[in-house]
Amino acid sequence: MKKVALITGILGQDGPYLAKLLLKNNYEVYGLIRRYTNPNFSNLDYLGITDKVNYISGDMTDEASLINIIKTVRPDEVYNLAAQSFVGASWDQAKVTSEINAHGVLYLLNAIKNFAPSAKFYQASTSEMFGNSHKNGLQTEETPFHPRSPYAISKLYAYWMAINFKESYGMFCANGILFNHESPIRGIEFVTRKITDGVARIKLGLANEIRLGNLDSKRDWGFAGDYVEAMWLILQQKEPDNYIISTGETHSIRDFLDAAFNHVGIKNWKKYVKLDPRFKRPAELFALHGKSDKARRKLNWKPKIKFEKLVKMMIDADIKRLSKK
Ligand code: NDP
Ligand code: GDP
Repeated sequence: MKKVALITGILGQDGPYLAKLLLKNNYEVYGLIRRYTNPNFSNLDYLGITDKVNYISGDMTDEASLINIIKTVRPDEVYNLAAQSFVGASWDQAKVTSEINAHGVLYLLNAIKNFAPSAKFYQASTSEMFGNSHKNGLQTEETPFHPRSPYAISKLYAYWMAINFKESYGMFCANGILFNHESPIRGIEFVTRKITDGVARIKLGLANEIRLGNLDSKRDWGFAGDYVEAMWLILQQKEPDNYIISTGETHSIRDFLDAAFNHVGIKNWKKYVKLDPRFKRPAELFALHGKSDKARRKLNWKPKIKFEKLVKMMIDADIKRLSKK
């Protein structure tokens, strides 16, 4: 019999990559989608799997819909990827961010506890929970949390709620603490995709500037396709546990700009990049740099795509997409 997986956040960036991996591993895949007048399946289309997923309608903020979905699907594995995932928007929309990212997870865990208690549960936790905490410049599973945005606070609630359901009810609940990961289908507001889309437009003569905020912050950027493998591996373990997933390399936004403009043959990018205070954050995370030794040792996971290759992959995809238009 095929294993049944439920993915929330199926229309986002990670949902389609994970669905593709699970389909390859012979799972039956269900994806939770919200009701829209015009739903957008473009990320699933990009990976060529739109027709291979079963869609089920619901919303993370509507507990009854989640109960219904769990009762109907009876999943073996649940991957909770749904979120208001943009840190920048979380100050302006703190309430909705909390309702989706924190309370939504509580509703989902309750539904699983009551109607599919042996299902394995993956929570999409984030390096944002560390804030500026580090030891010798690195974050590990032992680094104290100090969230610095409503997004990070909502995610920390969900992280602990997953652990609490494990400890209280013996459920298989695991957290992947993923550092930033990107791809050609990354949301357009995130800095990497904003840059690759902007550089592609400049190269094609469709734009002449990119407006950005803080260029000095550093992130540990990996490839989404590599990171969904870790999600799956985390649920294949005998015992639920929490794992950092990162590349172990960190780069500034300036490094990203260097690599991106260099790839299209533009040496001096400074004239194309305008600093715009609208894109600065009320509280910044200066540097994320994850130590994923535990995942490498216990899950036998490691990232395959390096920084330069990731940047090239994203720009080439944006140039191809914009050229078609
Ligand atoms: P995206 O923002 O691309 O996707 C999030 C998905 O959540 C969207 O499909 C969205 O649906 C869905 N969603 C939002 N609100 C609701 C709701 N109320 N009910 C149901 N679905 C909802 O995120 P990513 O794919 O990049 O990330 C996946 C998860 O991993 C997120 O939880 C994110 O916070 C977390 N994460 C991501 C990292 C990264 O670098 N990408 C790093 C660490 C953690 P719709 O399409 O309808 O808007
Ligand atoms: P985050 O790490 O989840 O917040 O991912 P983002 O891609 O949104 O932001 C990464 C870093 O880029 C943060 O330190 C931002 O302050 C910085 N940054 C600088 N300019 C911009 C911008 O124009 N948009 C976004 N999204 N981030 C920017």
